[in-house]
Amino acid sequence: MNKRVLVKFSGEALAGTEGYGIDTKILDYIAEEIKSLVEYGIEVAIVIGGGNIIRGVTAAADGVIKRTSADYMGMLGTVINGVAMQEALEYKGLSARLQTAIKMEEIAEPFIVRKAMRHFEKGRVVIFGAGTGNPYFTTDTGATLRATEIGADLLIKATKVNGVYDKDPMKFADAIKLDNLTYDRALEDHIKVMDDTAIALAKDNKLPIAVTNMNEKGNLLRIVQGDYSKCSIVK
Ligand code: UDP
Repeated sequence: MNKRVLVKFSGEALAGTEGYGIDTKILDYIAEEIKSLVEYGIEVAIVIGGGNIIRGVTAAADGVIKRTSADYMGMLGTVINGVAMQEALEYKGLSARLQTAIKMEEIAEPFIVRKAMRHFEKGRVVIFGAGTGNPYFTTDTGATLRATEIGADLLIKATKVNGVYDKDPMKFADAIKLDNLTYDRALEDHIKVMDDTAIALAKDNKLPIAVTNMNEKGNLLRIVQGDYSKCSIVK
């Protein structure tokens, strides 16, 4: 059984049908899913992306905004999502703490791994905001880094798809779901579970990654209970 798990959600997941911003119904749904993990006895960390607010590459596309600044804007977006997630978890009666990779102490604690561990001991959910704190990285890499730092035994990438396929299931009707795949396979262009930096870091640290559909209720709990039928495992 898993003991400490980090769950990564994309920022887009929070956006709902609007395609941008934060849909509180989705926040509430995610909080309920996280609650089931905590009640099962898992120590839970969360990383949320910022794609529903801003993506560095897109914001910098026409050159008006420099890439580094655009990336800092993206990181701030992840903090906005983190504050919202913290509220949603507390609304569900859980105790949660947001820690950020960039100091903004009026809003959240700075990231301190020992402090995060203490929060887990007390049954708190820890949300890591602002990615790695560095431009040119992604929140997938931030999630892999934090999962490694806190000694998580599993990283769950919560997505819109049921797992990893040998080709794009949206384009090819004969796409086959891969139940297990190696890190090297996950790096292949047409598979791309996460960006190369994130996968390389996971591989170096032997951090297994479960890819699952967050919109199917109970999927996160199933995985930590050892039922891998609704996900793909990269290890
Ligand atoms: N970002 C960054 N460094 C990090 C993590 C994120 O610069 O360590 C910026 C980057 O601009 C990225 C944005 O924050 O586009 C939002 O994160 P991401 O695209 O990973 O979010 P997601 O796709 O998961 O919603």
